[in-house]
Amino acid sequence: MVDNNKQRTGEDKPLLPRSATGQELPADFLLHVVETIPDLIFTINLETLELVYSNRDIFSHFGWDLDYASASPKQRNEQWGKMLHQSDFTAMRSTAEFLAELDREGTIDDVVRFKASNGQWLHYQARCTRLRSVSDGADLAVLVARDISERRKLDKDQRMAAKVFENSDDGIMILDAQSRVVQVNPALLKITGFDDVDLLGRSPIGIILPHESGVLGIDATTGPEPGLFNEALKNGFSQNEGFGIRSNGDRFHSLTSITVLRDSDECVQTLIITMRDITESKTHEERIRHLAYYDALTRLPNRTLFHDRLEHELQRCERHDYCAALLFLDLDQFKAINDSLGHAAGDRLLKIASERLTDNVRGEDTVARMSGDEFTIIINGQSSRDHVAASAAHVARKILRELCEPFNLEGSEAFVSVSIGISIYPDDGRTSSMLLRNADTAMYFAKEAGKNNFQFYTPEMNAHSAEQLAFQNSLHKAVADQEFEVYYQPQYDYKNGSLRTVESLLRWRHPDGSLVSPLRFIPLAEQTGLIIRMGEWLIERSLWQFAEWRSMGLPIDRLAINLSTRQFGDDKLVHLVSRLLQQYDIPPNSVEFELTESVIMADIAVTRAVLEELKALGVSIVIDDFGTGYSSLNYLKELPIDALKIDGSFVSSLPGGREDQQIVKVIVALAEGFDLRVIAEGVETAEQSEYLENLGCSAAQGYLFAGPKPAFELEQFLRLSDLSANDQKHSA
Ligand code: C2E
Ligand code: CA
Ligand code: CA
Repeated sequence: MVDNNKQRTGEDKPLLPRSATGQELPADFLLHVVETIPDLIFTINLETLELVYSNRDIFSHFGWDLDYASASPKQRNEQWGKMLHQSDFTAMRSTAEFLAELDREGTIDDVVRFKASNGQWLHYQARCTRLRSVSDGADLAVLVARDISERRKLDKDQRMAAKVFENSDDGIMILDAQSRVVQVNPALLKITGFDDVDLLGRSPIGIILPHESGVLGIDATTGPEPGLFNEALKNGFSQNEGFGIRSNGDRFHSLTSITVLRDSDECVQTLIITMRDITESKTHEERIRHLAYYDALTRLPNRTLFHDRLEHELQRCERHDYCAALLFLDLDQFKAINDSLGHAAGDRLLKIASERLTDNVRGEDTVARMSGDEFTIIINGQSSRDHVAASAAHVARKILRELCEPFNLEGSEAFVSVSIGISIYPDDGRTSSMLLRNADTAMYFAKEAGKNNFQFYTPEMNAHSAEQLAFQNSLHKAVADQEFEVYYQPQYDYKNGSLRTVESLLRWRHPDGSLVSPLRFIPLAEQTGLIIRMGEWLIERSLWQFAEWRSMGLPIDRLAINLSTRQFGDDKLVHLVSRLLQQYDIPPNSVEFELTESVIMADIAVTRAVLEELKALGVSIVIDDFGTGYSSLNYLKELPIDALKIDGSFVSSLPGGREDQQIVKVIVALAEGFDLRVIAEGVETAEQSEYLENLGCSAAQGYLFAGPKPAFELEQFLRLSDLSANDQKHSA
C-alpha cells in the first residue's frame, strides 16, 4: 500500500481497502474478482497507448475470429477500427484531449458501443479512471465496461409501451393484484367520461364494468373468483363482447380484453384491461340484422326469420316427440281496399292487422309476414296432436273474430276478413316446406269455402292440388305447342236484323281430343301469367281472320275481343293492337274490346291510362258481364266506354223472373242515360229476345242466333243466314 490511486481531490488512498469485517483481504482477491466479474476490465498504457491488461480477450469476447495476444499490431489496429463506434468518446477526442479531461475530471463515464461479429452494436456503460502502476510506475487508464444492451432494450420497450398507452384509441386501465385501478389512459377517460380521480385506487367493477356481465373482482390472496376474469386468470388473456358504463350511467358496447401478468412465483401482479367502444358498429350490425330478419312495415319477423324459427321448432318437436301447428293466413279483401283507399291506407291496415295477430297468440308463438297480405303463425309444440290442433283452432277463431272488427284508417273505416289454413307437424309434413305448402293449400280451400273461415289440411286437398299442378303443366305445354283454336260467335243487331258482329272466344284443343272451356283454363292462365302469350296469339289470330273475311267480302262489320286483367295491364298491348290494325289494314272502329268489371276495377289508374290509349287508336270498349261485379257508377261516367253487355245470368230467367227483370231494366236505363249501347248475352229463347228488344237493347248474342263456331263453320253459317235474312225481308 505504497502507491496512490490518483483521484480528483489529489488525495492518496490505499490500493487495498480494508474489508467491512475488518479482516485483511487475501492477496489474490483482486485477481480473482477481476477474472470472474462479468464486466470488461482493461488497462491501457497512456504513453504507448497499448493494451496492458484485459480480463477477457477483447476481440474474441465479441465473437471475432482473432485473439488479441497473437494478432500483429496492424491487425489489432484494424480490429479496433472495426469494433469501436465512430461517434463514441474515444474516437471523438484526440488522446491529448481525452487525457486532459481525465486529469480534470478524474473519472469519465460514458456509453461505449462495441460491434459484435454478427454486426450488432452492443452498448456498454464504461468508466475510465487513471492509475499509476505500483509495479513499474506506468501511467495507465483503467476501463471498466458493463453490458447494458438488455437494460436499454427494456427501457426502449417501456418507452414504447408508454406511448401506446397514451395514444391508444382503446381505453386501457392497469389494475394491481387487488384489482384496484392504478393507472388509466386518456382514451379510457374519453370513452367513459370519468375523471381519473373517480377510478384510481378503486375496483372498476360497478363503476366502469357492470356487475352482471359476470365480472367479479379477484383477490390475490383468495385466488380467482368466477366471472369474466376467470378465463383471463386461467389462460393469461380473455376477450369478450360485453358492456361498459359511462359516467352518466349509460351503457356502451365494449370489446373488453383482460391480460394477466404474474410474477416469477406465479402470483397475479397486474391486470391490464382494455375496452374498445364498439357501440357504433354494434348498432349498425343490429340494424342490418333487423333489416334482414324483420319486415320493415309491420316489424314482424319476415320470411327468412320465419323459416329459421320453424326449422328450429321442428327440431325441438322431433327431440321431444311434440306436435306443432302452422297457420297460413291471407286477408280476404285486402286488394280491393288497397286499390280503392290507396297504399298508405293499405299499409296502415296491414300494421293494425299484424298487431291484432300478435295480440292473439302467446308470446312464444311466432307471427310472421310472408309477403303482401300473407301471414304465418307457428303454434309451438305440445305433447299431442289433439292439443295442438285445439290450440290452433282456438287461435284461428280468435283471429277471425278480431279481424272482423272495423279498421280505422285515418278517416275511413274498412272491413276485412281472413282465410286461414292449418297444417300440423308431423302428420301433415315433417319438413318446414311441406308444412308450409300444406297450410297454404288448406288456406286456399278456406277461400274456396267462402272466405272468412279456417280449414285444417287433409290429404284429399293435396290430391286436388296435384291435379291442379298437372293441369298447370299441360297448360304450359299447350302454350308452347299452340294447342289453341279460336271460335267465333255472332251478335244479332236488332236495328238492321243482321249478324254482323262476331266475338272471338278461345278454345283449348287438349291432346286427348277434348275441347277445354276457357272458364277452366283462363283463371289459371291469369295466375301463371300465361294469359299474356295466349292473349297475344288470340288477338293476332282473330284480327288476321277478320282481315281474311273482309277481303273475302263476308258480311262481318265488327270483331269483339275479350281481355283479362293481366293482359290489360301489359304495356305491350296497345302497341300490339296498333301494329296489327295497320298490318292487316283494319279500320280501328270495327274492333271492340270486352272487359269485365273486375278488369276495370283492378287498378283504376292503369285502366284509365290504357283505355285512353286504346280509344286514341279508335277502337271501342265494351263492359262484359255487366251487373255481376262491383258496379261503381262513377267509372261509367268517367271512362271512355261505348257499350254494356248484360250478363247471361240475368237473361236466363227472363221474361218471367221479376228480380232479373228489374236488374235488366235498370241496366238498360243506365246505358241510355250514359248514351251507351246495350248488348244482351246468353239469349236462348225467342221470348227472351223479344223482351230485350222491347226494353231497348241494341243487340243480342246467344244460342238462339248462333253458338260459338270455328271460322269455316261461321263462314258457311253467315252465308246461309244472310240469304235467309234477305228472304225474310222479301217475304215481310
Ligand atoms: P264471355 O265473354 O261472357 O263469353 C260468353 C260465354 O257464353 C262463352 O263461353 C259462350 O260460349 C257462352 N255462350 C254464348 N251463347 C250462350 C247462350 O246462349 N247460353 C249460354 N249459357 N252460354 C252462351 P266460353 O266461350 O266458354 O267463354 C267463357 C268465358 O271465357 C268468356 O265469357 C270470357 O270471359 C272468357 N274468354 C273466352 N275467350 C277469351 C279470350 O280470348 N280472352 C279472354 N281474356 N277471355 C276469354
Ligand atoms: Ca265476352
Ligand atoms: Ca259474358
